Amino acid sequence: MKKPFVTKEQIEEIAKTYPTPFYVYDEKGIRENARKLKNAFSWNKGFREYFAVKATPNPFIMKILQSEGCGFDCSSLTELMLSDDVGAKQHDIMFSSNATPDADFRKAYELGAIINLDDFTHIDVLDKLTGIPETICCRYNPGGEFKTDGSPNVMDTPKDAKYGFTHDQIIEGYRILKEKGAKKFGMHAFLASNTLTNDYYPTLAGILFRTAVEIKEKTGVQLSFINLSGGVGIPYKPDQPANDIEIIGEKVREQYEKILVPAGMGDVAIFTELGRFMLAPYGLLIAKAIREKHIYKEYIGLDACAANLMRPAIYGAYHHITVLGKEDAACDHKYDVTGGLCENNDKFAVDRMLPKIDIGDYVAIHDAGAHGFSMGYNYNGKLRSAELLLRADGSVKLIRRAETPDDYFRTFDVFNGNYEL
Ligand SMILES: *Cc1c(COP(=O)(O)O)cnc(C)c1O
Repeated sequence: MKKPFVTKEQIEEIAKTYPTPFYVYDEKGIRENARKLKNAFSWNKGFREYFAVKATPNPFIMKILQSEGCGFDCSSLTELMLSDDVGAKQHDIMFSSNATPDADFRKAYELGAIINLDDFTHIDVLDKLTGIPETICCRYNPGGEFKTDGSPNVMDTPKDAKYGFTHDQIIEGYRILKEKGAKKFGMHAFLASNTLTNDYYPTLAGILFRTAVEIKEKTGVQLSFINLSGGVGIPYKPDQPANDIEIIGEKVREQYEKILVPAGMGDVAIFTELGRFMLAPYGLLIAKAIREKHIYKEYIGLDACAANLMRPAIYGAYHHITVLGKEDAACDHKYDVTGGLCENNDKFAVDRMLPKIDIGDYVAIHDAGAHGFSMGYNYNGKLRSAELLLRADGSVKLIRRAETPDDYFRTFDVFNGNYEL
């Protein structure tokens, strides 16, 4: 059973100040989970999580993670600026981007971030733009098909992914980077998303560790860190078993001791770049049932829409829904729960069995804390919602105000209302 971290009474109180829809994040949950991750990898001296900023780009959320020891993984100029704003310094930032604009490379270099090159040709690009920094990372794409060792249910096709260096390119890449004066090297790979198996990281680690040994043998470059990136998933459906981060950490350690330690590489730091695992369960999208409709199917219309949370519309992703105050009621009504966009895919749930929903009921849409607000947009002139933080002491803090129509018109402000052609 999925239970929201807020009650109907709390939401009724909050909604007096901040009207729905809004996002609310659970500080306590975020902190406890971050500590669990850190603990699972505490066997590795240099371990660090670089939170994937794109999942939840809010400076207050970033501050929480920063105080738990996390760095930040950025993929764009503005994410770099956010990290700078919260006081992240130098190697507190990893910059993993692709099709990278010059300005983004320059900013990353200027901040002293660890730059993770997405492609062989970027070596030259960066060299000409800023020079090669002393610490540099390369993103690896082993090609072929990826399958986890233990459980057969995670498969992906790196050969069809746009990211990373090929095997031969990465070996040549380290050789060239060393020639150009780089002193500290890292390797990064992201081969499968939202995995629900304790075998994803260990399998990936095995591939990267063996490649690291090969790189050392062929080029003399000894990697300082290996970044397992993101991809550890969360159970969006209530009947799915969650990953066990402690087991994952332990299984990565086994690979480390089997492959890296015997090769004299027992000082390689392990980095992670998790987004979803760090935040998704600790964010709810709270909306109100504002309309009902009885045609060929039964519909409930919310005051939130796909512009607030796009995953169901674009991926058909399941997000669990709790009708607040009806947690224990029988799920004996079948609904399509929709937003108001003029798009028929604007449905948070299709044929979902839920308790009877009355107009005015608040619903909590679960697991929206990552890739939720951040993927929001303004289609149909819809405005982005507020983000709130539920503090450990039960108080609520506004961490982003809701957009107003003024925000929507902001990019026309240079015309001062004069739209004469
Ligand atoms: C998106 C992304 C992540 C985070 O992925 P999750 O699935 O949220 O863990 C990490 N690293 C890079 C480079 C990414 O693009």
